[in-house]
Amino acid sequence: MESVTLIINLAYVLAAALFILGLKLLSHPSTARKGNVISAIGMLVAVVVTLLDHDILSYHWILLGFAIGGAYGAWKAKSVEMTEMPQMVSLFNGFGGAASLLLGWSTISQQATAGFSALSGAVLTTVVLTILIGGVTFSGSVIAWGKLSGRMGAKAVIFTGLRELSIAHLLGFLVVGYLFVSEPANPAWLYATIALALSFGVLATISIGGADMPVVIALLNSYSGVAACAAGLAVSNTILIVTGLLVGASGLILTNIMCKAMNRSLMNVLLSGFAKPVEAAEKIEGEVKILPAQDAFYVLEAAQAVLVVPGYGMAVAQAQHAVRELQTLLEENGCTVEYAIHPVAGRMPGHMNVLLAEADVPYDQLYEMDEVNPRMENYDVVIVIGANDVVNPAAKEMKGSPIYGMPVIEAYRAKTVFVLKRSANAGFAGVDNPLFFKDNTRMVLGDAKDTINTIIREFGDD
Ligand code: NDP
Repeated sequence: MESVTLIINLAYVLAAALFILGLKLLSHPSTARKGNVISAIGMLVAVVVTLLDHDILSYHWILLGFAIGGAYGAWKAKSVEMTEMPQMVSLFNGFGGAASLLLGWSTISQQATAGFSALSGAVLTTVVLTILIGGVTFSGSVIAWGKLSGRMGAKAVIFTGLRELSIAHLLGFLVVGYLFVSEPANPAWLYATIALALSFGVLATISIGGADMPVVIALLNSYSGVAACAAGLAVSNTILIVTGLLVGASGLILTNIMCKAMNRSLMNVLLSGFAKPVEAAEKIEGEVKILPAQDAFYVLEAAQAVLVVPGYGMAVAQAQHAVRELQTLLEENGCTVEYAIHPVAGRMPGHMNVLLAEADVPYDQLYEMDEVNPRMENYDVVIVIGANDVVNPAAKEMKGSPIYGMPVIEAYRAKTVFVLKRSANAGFAGVDNPLFFKDNTRMVLGDAKDTINTIIREFGDD
């Protein structure tokens, strides 16, 4: 028996090592695919060993769940459009939270017949935490999914009484949590905990505005790990604790990166629903200057240094391959081409890097915002492809703006700026963009891929 325990523990160590190696490899686009496979193998080892570690009465339900979940997951992963990835990732976080919530719930249900004697106060506390954090993660992620998929508006929903309602929830957590631990046989406290967790997740996420969503998504990711870790403590499963900690810690690191990218503190973002409304931003006045794609070609043909700033619209238009082709043509014409990647461009961390890697854009031509901003004046043309919030000078110029203070790619300081999008509408944060009205900006209107293909054709005709 002891040798079985030893083998199981060794297998857990192996799974944990595979997770850590996978995480390390995920940190660079060239090794990320391998990292994913290695982590998946780690998860398979963990699941199989956990099943062997328990007295399973019947494998029927487990195999059925495995077959349905596995088949649906494989089909979804194959069929999902690249543009739907951010909301899918958000749902994954949510399902992680829901799984922890259900595990906490089942731990309590199993004890109902045994009279809860097997559960100490400490274990019950971890069960409460599992349900609370899991529930908040689930409902918060569903709202994030709604915002990212466009099923809900991205703007913050703030109403009178929101602050009081949120405080009441926090107090409710303490009271109901205490009652749950002291009287676990009463199902009312279990249901009240679940209801409070779910409604708090909704409240906390709807009150956060579009521009702050990257921080919230990273934080929900971290919560899903913390919930799993609490679940691991509740059911005494070592590998669940380790996995939860890894996800929780890496989510926190990502949250920190996002906060830094936006020059906001975590508290500032989380409490934004509590803050008093900022004065309305001043109105932007001026005229946008529209340039046909054919004319944009003449300027690009004469350019010596071009900077490409991609944003969410490049993902929508699936323009990355056309961008790569344009890069080759410009380079053959003696022009240097560089890319500036804002940390929150797109709708998920690393979104632009993934797309550009798919189109074989060399990594060494991708630069961070802090690297390109100091040399912005040197670029003859900055091509903004479907980006909006990440190049919005309102972040620097307009005090009342919700994005005031967020570091942006200062495209407006280049000699000429081409903005490739379909209209002068606002981006995800819902903030008007003064860049469109600057003297050196030309709007090249239309779908980004069509526009770039038109420019490419002009190069061919030349
Ligand atoms: P934005 O959302 O600010 O702007 C994207 C622009 O793309 C839109 O204004 C739209 O303009 C344009 N667009 C859409 N479709 C097309 C198309 N087919 N062809 C050309 N243009 C198109 O994107 P950014 O990348 O600049 O900024 C990201 C925003 O998303 C930030 O506010 C960030 O905080 C937020 N966010 C980021 C997350 C992350 O992790 N990266 C997660 C959640 C939110 P038009 O309709 O006129 O074409």
